[in-house]
Amino acid sequence: MVSCIWCGENLHHNQMTVKGNRYRYYRCPNHREHSGEGVSMVPAAEAEELLESEFLEQAGDLPITERVWVPGDTRDQELREAVAALDELTRLAGAVQSATARERLTGQIGAIDRRILELESQPVREAHWEYREVGGTYRDAWETGNTEQRRSLLLRSGITLRIGVKGRRGGHSGGAWTWELHLPEPIADALARTRRS
Ligand SMILES: [Zn+2]
Repeated sequence: MVSCIWCGENLHHNQMTVKGNRYRYYRCPNHREHSGEGVSMVPAAEAEELLESEFLEQAGDLPITERVWVPGDTRDQELREAVAALDELTRLAGAVQSATARERLTGQIGAIDRRILELESQPVREAHWEYREVGGTYRDAWETGNTEQRRSLLLRSGITLRIGVKGRRGGHSGGAWTWELHLPEPIADALARTRRS
């Protein structure tokens, strides 16, 4: 929920003790690769405050939207089974002697044939992610949730604060913060619609 503005990687949450005081901070695992642009090591409490205020200001009134996995359909599997059954029946049809047996098999082959035709004409639905509104607004859920529930709310919605500190190497204070609240497309679209109306 807090990621690097330079490379997009999730920042790691760390702690250190300096002169008996404990500091929490976030740091990018790839920080060496973009040390020319700035550091991505920020005090955790301030980053979390910034995330909260930005998030509530921008997304607070929006309906909670979560990513859900929609499995693909079973068409391909059914089609493979039908074709296997057809192969078996045509093999048998070549081996039977009586007209009665041939007639029965022809009937079964006809039924399988219609099933295959039906399956082949169905559109394929592939497995995919979808965003769905699950009720309530972000502000409601945020204000009634504990730390864990808030974290989970952001995770499920794919909302992150991208952050970095410009042009300062090392240290955990000073330098100009640069940041943006990243909203997944469907949420950003909903936000754009509210702003227009
Ligand atoms: Zn980074």
